[in-house]
Amino acid sequence: MRRLLTISAFLIFLTPLASADTLLAGAAQAVITPDLTGRTVYLAGFGNNRVATDVHDDLYARCLALGIAKQILVLCSVDLIGLFYDDVLTIRGSFQQKSPGSAFLIVASTHTHAGPDTLGLYGPKPLETGIDSKYLSSVDERIATTAVEAVRAMQPARLQLARDDHPLLSLLQGVDRPPLVKDPFLFVMRLLARSTGRTIATAVNWSDHPEVLGRKNTQITADYPHWVRTYVEKQFGGIALVFSGSIGKVSPLGNQVSLVDPETLKVAEDGSWRKAELLGNEIGRLAERALRSAQDVQLDSILVRTAKLYAPMYNPRFRVAEAAGVFAGRKPLYTNGEPDASTDTRDLPSLGRVKYSTGRDIQTEVDYIQFVAGRAAVAEIATIPGEIYPELVNGGVRRYVGADYPEAPLEPVLREHLKTKYQFVLGLGNDEIGYLIPKVEWDEEPPWLMNAAEPWYGEINSVGPDAAERVLQALVGLISQ
Ligand SMILES: [Zn+2]
Repeated sequence: MRRLLTISAFLIFLTPLASADTLLAGAAQAVITPDLTGRTVYLAGFGNNRVATDVHDDLYARCLALGIAKQILVLCSVDLIGLFYDDVLTIRGSFQQKSPGSAFLIVASTHTHAGPDTLGLYGPKPLETGIDSKYLSSVDERIATTAVEAVRAMQPARLQLARDDHPLLSLLQGVDRPPLVKDPFLFVMRLLARSTGRTIATAVNWSDHPEVLGRKNTQITADYPHWVRTYVEKQFGGIALVFSGSIGKVSPLGNQVSLVDPETLKVAEDGSWRKAELLGNEIGRLAERALRSAQDVQLDSILVRTAKLYAPMYNPRFRVAEAAGVFAGRKPLYTNGEPDASTDTRDLPSLGRVKYSTGRDIQTEVDYIQFVAGRAAVAEIATIPGEIYPELVNGGVRRYVGADYPEAPLEPVLREHLKTKYQFVLGLGNDEIGYLIPKVEWDEEPPWLMNAAEPWYGEINSVGPDAAERVLQALVGLISQ
């Protein structure tokens, strides 16, 4: 009798493990820090000609692979200012060749402002690229290899989901352009090995520009995500990944985000390593706290929906940069869905007589992922191909005096369409097209929003006033399919 019982218990235990519907998870990481010996590495963010002098902490590509019911999803986070869509397509091509079976790969950049220039905009001079093509191609390959390693490392796993939305979280985000809306939601996903109970990976989704070190810093660093990962890995083990969320205009720079150093009881100095460390530790602690009340989820399937889209390019700065080769051929323009490399010569107010790319659109992508358990959606992931203003995600778009298109229709608000408790928003997902700004808040012409004395910052780093609408409509289309 005793023996029979043991056997049946064993069978019951074994069946789900062998079933096609057991969640599998694997993680892998690789260092992608550029070698500084004998070459000039331009740091991305802030402005031109900021040359790297040293490495404070390594930059990483980190990938988490999830597999269930024959669907494999790989989420990679990379410590870079951004990767263009063409780079992501290259990475996917290489990944598909090496990967067993079919899998869907998402590559999101953390947007660190202390890493190499992978967009080209931060070279020695405004129209000289900062991209080192050889290095960037090697990074693309490294990301693909890391994604493959994550897939190969997959083992039966348990999934935990957690969130924190305490109002005080907004104190960790600074916004200085109206409306003063933030997106203070922290989402955490943890995967544990079924065999050992050990953590495979923990993914943290939070919104803040990784630029704590500021423009004076010339040392390579992942910025505060480095300390988030260090904290989380110390607590739980495994590989920690940080995904930046709705980071348009959201920054920990300045006095709005004041962190008291427990050792000195003084506010950590702006632009200091200590402030980056304190912010990273704080986000890590919040992730740990959220995980204490995590929900264990038995996934049945992962649903993946993806859409390619085109958004009109208005920004003359980007057109001139493209014609000058600043993007190193990695962000081509399109007309009617076809690559369009045509140029002409124009006289522009601030730039003089310049070569100008005339293609109409940029090409990009949005993805919507649903985790399904018991036939119901339990978690969602939406990718945003740039830096989205939080009011487009969290709500609170406003019409202002001084706006260039005060009557423009409002874009859909992302979280109004998402339906689950765990809403991961991966900013700079598969592309970096710059700021996504609500059209009614678009302001390139005086008078300025709210009759401000000076223009607001933002439009200069945006594709144009229609990009947000294209991206959000495409996403809402995927969500409501
Ligand atoms: Zn930015």
